[in-house]
Amino acid sequence: PTAELQAIDAAHHMHPFTTNDELAEQGARVITRAKGVFLTDSEGNEILDGMAGLWCVNIGYGRTEMAEVAARQMAELPYYNTFFKTTHVPAIALSQEIARLAPEGMNNVFFAGSGSEANDTNIRMVRTYWAEKGKPSKSHIISRKNAYHGSSMGSGSLGGMDYMHAQGGMPIPGIHHIGQPDWWAEGGDMTPEEFGLARARELEAKIEELGEDNVAAFIAEPVQGAGGVIIPPETYWPEIQRICDKYEILLIADEVICGFGRTGNWFGSQTFGIRPHIMTIAKGLSSGYQPIGGSVVCDEVASVIGATEFNHGYTYSGHPVASAVALKNLQILQDENILDHVRNTAGPAFRAGLEGLADHPLVGGASVIGLMGSLPLTPHKESRAKFAGEAGAIGLMCRERCFANNLVMRHVGDRMVVSPPLVITPDEINIFMDRARKALDETWQKADKEG
Ligand code: PLP
Repeated sequence: PTAELQAIDAAHHMHPFTTNDELAEQGARVITRAKGVFLTDSEGNEILDGMAGLWCVNIGYGRTEMAEVAARQMAELPYYNTFFKTTHVPAIALSQEIARLAPEGMNNVFFAGSGSEANDTNIRMVRTYWAEKGKPSKSHIISRKNAYHGSSMGSGSLGGMDYMHAQGGMPIPGIHHIGQPDWWAEGGDMTPEEFGLARARELEAKIEELGEDNVAAFIAEPVQGAGGVIIPPETYWPEIQRICDKYEILLIADEVICGFGRTGNWFGSQTFGIRPHIMTIAKGLSSGYQPIGGSVVCDEVASVIGATEFNHGYTYSGHPVASAVALKNLQILQDENILDHVRNTAGPAFRAGLEGLADHPLVGGASVIGLMGSLPLTPHKESRAKFAGEAGAIGLMCRERCFANNLVMRHVGDRMVVSPPLVITPDEINIFMDRARKALDETWQKADKEG
């Protein structure tokens, strides 16, 4: 029975980003199975997953062919490592396929078990690169406020979430944060184009403050995901690229959310014309069917790193089962033309649906790219005002109303964010929009009643 499961869960299971009080108030929803874009819970409710889990189940749930590949690989070679000059076929095949799909000149993959681990790899890799090039002072890394790059000490430090830094001594030394290109919340009276340039130029100012001889790399998500689906103004990325080129700063594109079709191309870097030296990958690489991540590295950096012994690696770097499953996932994305579906079918329907919701009195607008989007909630559309009460309270209320209407939408402060499985159909998008509108109506009424 659900109540029994919830009680055991609350007693023994420590949840990420959750308080005991929250669990005591209402037990965690117990998800028992999933198919396509729908989750089923222990009460038999069918919930439309507008978040693809944690932005990762790109090919949708319930693919038995993925289970078959995993079972076959487990029977044949369940584990072997890739340390000390050993390898195996799944890691070989997956690295080749990633290199084939990656932008030109990015032919090298260093595997990890997650996005956090991959970003930890990146910190050590860029510092090692510059040290090997005879410039050990180039060790500082610049990131952005509100970025999310993972939860380990390294990746959490790269991230720009103040509430995460407040616990456990982050950021580690040598990591710096500039503003994010969030025009809606922070653009004031500037046009998006002016604001995009201004925020990009914060990178130049920070490099000059630290000294270009001291800066190793800049890391950013092509579209900030957990920070609220912040789609940068058109002026932003070209200016960032110019600055990185000018000062010889390595550019790390964190593609953990944007990669593998989310923005309509294989990588967000392609959507925005970014030329990274390293890309962080995870999530959509296996569609979440197995934990796996990695760093896709350009030939220049890989040749320098490979010329020395990079004293770094994880027990599960290139794990055979995870690699075989990820390779199958990449095959499915190609065989079923899923990127084309994002660009030409689901993406336009999703955009139309979210833009349709922007007429709701609580919604300030819609930002959409590919199959990710956000709806900022506001008491006043024209001025893009914030709510008078506690920041995020209305967003949380809306998330709860979505859940009550069998829809998963996440809130980032008072912004609702969406990132459904890439296989979502236009009919399912309609179901999404109907449930979201109902949740918004209920939030509006409840917020009004509670003043
Ligand atoms: N980078 C980005 C952009 C992410 O969104 C995430 C996770 O949400 C990570 C890195 C960390 O990945 P993981 O949770 O697999 O460690």
